[in-house]
Amino acid sequence: MASDCVFCRIVAGELPADVIERGDGWMVFADIAPAAPTHLLAIPTCHVSGVAATVDENPGLVADLVGALTTHARRAGFEDDGYRLVINQGRDGAQSVPHLHVHLLAGRLLDWPPG
Ligand code: AMP
Repeated sequence: MASDCVFCRIVAGELPADVIERGDGWMVFADIAPAAPTHLLAIPTCHVSGVAATVDENPGLVADLVGALTTHARRAGFEDDGYRLVINQGRDGAQSVPHLHVHLLAGRLLDWPPG
């Protein structure tokens, strides 16, 4: 755990979150500033700074996060209308929390390309 990491503090129960699901090494919770009617984040429970830091050593972790959100989207009935999964990496990717996370955005027609 990184004591100054907001997502590590959520994992540790030090900060509140609307937790949707927990799995083996990951959890899913609601984004605090939703950009769509459904906006969830899937994170690893161990601290990893981002996708670039994990994809070589532990690509299965990224697959677990994508799998958790894809399964949630199916259960929630979003497959027909669709949804978006997003990973922001680094400054130019507009990553604001340096703990790996995948966004699930659903429930409205999303613009493309993003800003
Ligand atoms: P990113 O820009 O990809 O790093 O996204 C970080 C996301 O984390 C943003 O959508 C924030 O709204 C969200 N966020 C930041 N702090 C919290 C928190 N305490 N609980 C839930 N979501 C958060």
